[in-house]
Amino acid sequence: MSTQAMYECAVCYEDEIQQERVEHVNDSLVCHTCISKQFRAALRIENDYPTRLGTVQLSFSDCHHVLEPEFWVAYAKKEIEYDCPPIMRVYCT
Ligand SMILES: [Zn+2]
Repeated sequence: MSTQAMYECAVCYEDEIQQERVEHVNDSLVCHTCISKQFRAALRIENDYPTRLGTVQLSFSDCHHVLEPEFWVAYAKKEIEYDCPPIMRVYCT
């Protein structure tokens, strides 16, 4: 039997999460899976950017360790695109 404390995610209510798999978001504990889902949504859909969890904006620098390096690159590129006003964007075809 493990003596390690388990934590509950405030988003998905999974309640057997190890300490290294949760983060503090404001006063709540949120699992890495839920945080990574929000960042992946923001990468796909501009309306989901900046990345939020409920009303709380998630900082990429605080959360990047829950995502893989390939994602960091894709997200950094997307941030440049999103931060540019749509009328100024130029896409190659
Ligand atoms: Zn969760």
